[in-house]
Amino acid sequence: MAKSKYQAPRGTFDVLPEAARARARVERAAAAVFARAGYEPVATPVFEDTELFERGVGHSTDIVRKEMFTFEDKGGRSLTLRPEGTAPICRAYVEHGMHKLAQPVKLSYVGPFFRHERPQAGRYRQFHQLGVECIGADSPLADAEAIGLLADLLAELGVPGVELRLGSLGSFEARQAYLEELRAHLRANEGELSKDVRERIDANPLRAFDSDDEGTQGVMASAPRLVDRLEGEDAEHFEEVRSLLDAAGIAYEIDTTLVRGLDYYTRTIFSFVCDRLGAQSEIGGGGRYDGLVEQLGGPPTPATGWAAGIERILLALGEEELETGDAADHHVFVASDDAAELRPRTIAILGELRHAGLTAQTDLAGRGLKGQLKHADRIGATHVVILEQGGSAQLRDMESGEQRSIELGSVVAEVTGGEA
Ligand code: AMP
Repeated sequence: MAKSKYQAPRGTFDVLPEAARARARVERAAAAVFARAGYEPVATPVFEDTELFERGVGHSTDIVRKEMFTFEDKGGRSLTLRPEGTAPICRAYVEHGMHKLAQPVKLSYVGPFFRHERPQAGRYRQFHQLGVECIGADSPLADAEAIGLLADLLAELGVPGVELRLGSLGSFEARQAYLEELRAHLRANEGELSKDVRERIDANPLRAFDSDDEGTQGVMASAPRLVDRLEGEDAEHFEEVRSLLDAAGIAYEIDTTLVRGLDYYTRTIFSFVCDRLGAQSEIGGGGRYDGLVEQLGGPPTPATGWAAGIERILLALGEEELETGDAADHHVFVASDDAAELRPRTIAILGELRHAGLTAQTDLAGRGLKGQLKHADRIGATHVVILEQGGSAQLRDMESGEQRSIELGSVVAEVTGGEA
């Protein structure tokens, strides 16, 4: 490998063609799952006003406190590379008056996201998520349907060893009494908590459940659990999400310690984990966020959604899956023994083949005919059209090695056997 002075920045990576094919396959599968459920694709900018994330994701979260790529533009405005997709989509929902459309508005997205985290396997500073948001529905059916989409996608892709964990945070109001109880428990055991958790007892006590600090974990083992404190409509909602998942045949584990790294969640939260992944075991997750649209200036609007990491999906699928590209049915290499003179005909035939939907390539490196055939084999051509002086041509089937004369006017039909 040639050593360059320049390298991809820490925590980022280049997607080379083989990996790009595996990604495209994941994205195509997701697009099909989303479309079948009536989720329509949207795209928002890669950067937003910093305040959107501070307000939306929450001041006390790790994302906002430590992980944002924030910069000033030339007008002195503070902008941030998006660390997540839900706040931007809710911003777009409000900005474009989507609450006036028939509800819910069901949206999907895919793209790069940025968090200044400590890089490790499955954790990057630029990563890619795909996800859905169902905005304007408070029904437990919306939660169960959204969860089902991620279950379907992972099953369709054949991701092994997946487990769904389910929890509920209750509504904001109902949560307050529990949070006081939790704070009291944390304060009573303050000496054993990590500094990070201790500092956030007031602002974000739930995060203590997520700590990898041993002392904190000990304290949390005996902490009161929110799921046990759910009442009224919160309890009913959770109960119904569970029975709908049962009805859909989607297996899950109730996880009473489940929390998420973003502040906007209410009621349902969930996480798909995979035992093939190491420390970063979550493939995707999400939940309900009934307060976010209103917090961003829209009308009170219930909503639910999730995001999954494309890199984590690919890691869980393993190397062998990464290599399964989509071999085109027909991949034609147009060869000739006199490139210069036959170039006009070469480019015309390439066009004809490609317009008919076939993959078609030619030699761009000045190889001799023998070298061209070798190259065609190397790049996976199924057929080689060999142009000859005087307008005749041969068609070689690369699998059988058979070669015969063909009419140039019917090259597409000759290659496809009349199917294209
Ligand atoms: P979150 O937006 O934090 O709920 O994360 C949703 C999903 O995005 C996770 O389950 C991961 O699959 C993926 N993800 C989050 N952060 C990263 C990261 N730094 N690197 C790679 N994937 C990530």
